Amino acid sequence: MTTLDIAADGAPATLGGPSLAQERRLVTAIPGPRSQELLDRKAAAVAAGVGHTAPIAAVAAGGGVVVDADGNSLIDLGSGIAVTSVGNAHPKVVEAVQRQAAQFTHTCFMVSPYEGYVAVAEALNRLTPGDFAKKSALFNSGAEAVENAIKIARKFTKRPAVVAFDHAYHGRTNLTMALTAKAMPYKSGFGPFASEIYRAPMSYPYRDGLTGAEAAAKAISVIEKQVGADNTAAVIIEPIQGEGGFIVPAEGFLPAISEWCTANGVVLIADEVQSGFARTGSMFASEQLGLVPDLVTTAKGIAGGLPLAAVTGRAEIMDASHAGGLGGTYGGNPIACAAALASIEAFETEGLVERAAAIGDVMLGRLRAMQDGDARIGDVRGLGAMVAIELVDPETKAPAAALAGAVARRCIAEGVIVLTCGTYGNVLRFLPPLTIGDALLHEGLDVVASALAAEASA
Ligand SMILES: *Cc1c(COP(=O)(O)O)cnc(C)c1O
Repeated sequence: MTTLDIAADGAPATLGGPSLAQERRLVTAIPGPRSQELLDRKAAAVAAGVGHTAPIAAVAAGGGVVVDADGNSLIDLGSGIAVTSVGNAHPKVVEAVQRQAAQFTHTCFMVSPYEGYVAVAEALNRLTPGDFAKKSALFNSGAEAVENAIKIARKFTKRPAVVAFDHAYHGRTNLTMALTAKAMPYKSGFGPFASEIYRAPMSYPYRDGLTGAEAAAKAISVIEKQVGADNTAAVIIEPIQGEGGFIVPAEGFLPAISEWCTANGVVLIADEVQSGFARTGSMFASEQLGLVPDLVTTAKGIAGGLPLAAVTGRAEIMDASHAGGLGGTYGGNPIACAAALASIEAFETEGLVERAAAIGDVMLGRLRAMQDGDARIGDVRGLGAMVAIELVDPETKAPAAALAGAVARRCIAEGVIVLTCGTYGNVLRFLPPLTIGDALLHEGLDVVASALAAEASA
């Protein structure tokens, strides 16, 4: 307990970052007494609607671990939901944040512009898919980026309708709840929702058995018959769906949707909030899936944990909005921009794109080996370091949500942070920081394997 004691001034004695001991270490049950104390305060002070996955009080994180107030060190297979891809408290990010915070913390970019914002826009224009002229606008969260992408597409096309897909997740604000498919927990009781949102069927190879071309034809038919191309401003899609279950569409699905959008003057928005920034083994998942979107929304992995989001895309679409029509008080905050520039440098100079692909090879290999001996693992899927297993009833393929929840809870109790997802709640997703070492990654997957085995005999 010595190194983890909280100093008298309240500052943690332990700093995070890659120098943190890279080990799984359990010194108390999860939650330990100090974590429990914080969870009790949380229950009394924080709105009940704000849930949590791991019952711990985090005090430091880095590399591939999260350390709690009791001195437990948990293997991180979640990255705070695909955010700390460059590693928590990455030294470049820490340095950039400290430097910028000491210089100025805010001017509001709409009042007094500054270089960091422009440099992030330049980087996004360079890194996102498509070799046409691009522009960007910065915001605070993924949901806000999605809201703005829809605003921009409607302004450009002068059309009202927006098409989203089954299993989609685009955020928790009113418009993005409307775009999101899953009622519980995201939408239930929170309506009425924004109008002119329509839903098309998604390619879901494990469950629909369709080729990419067949699934696209089905989706396009729904759009043409139930919405009408002339009414449609935008089609928004996650190239690999995140909360919906890490669904990788069948080959050819995304290019066919994209072609239809181009032919019909519909803006195609790729929501890469979860799949972007090296996560899938390329800077953006679209690159590997044959998709060149008109607009891309980004957030999560963009700034090493600081809140930042963006819409990037074709200059003529981005420029359709009148001056003053886009923005926000905090959008492109200078500290978040400094963190994004440091993160982008880390992605580009520390081999993290290649590392994501290598992590994916390890995870897919291990999980497929587990699947060989375990019919409850219906599907193993993903791209790069964005991988999941779908748990099912071996006879009926019915989603096994209770099993997924039990395995995740068991993993956390054993010191490995594992997240669930999926429309049916039966998917375990693995999103380690790209700075996790191989030994820790294997140990994390060993714990997943033993949790699955324990549930089989439970
Ligand atoms: C998380 C997520 C969002 C919402 O981002 P927030 O920053 O939580 O508002 C939108 N789209 C996708 C694909 C996401 O994964």
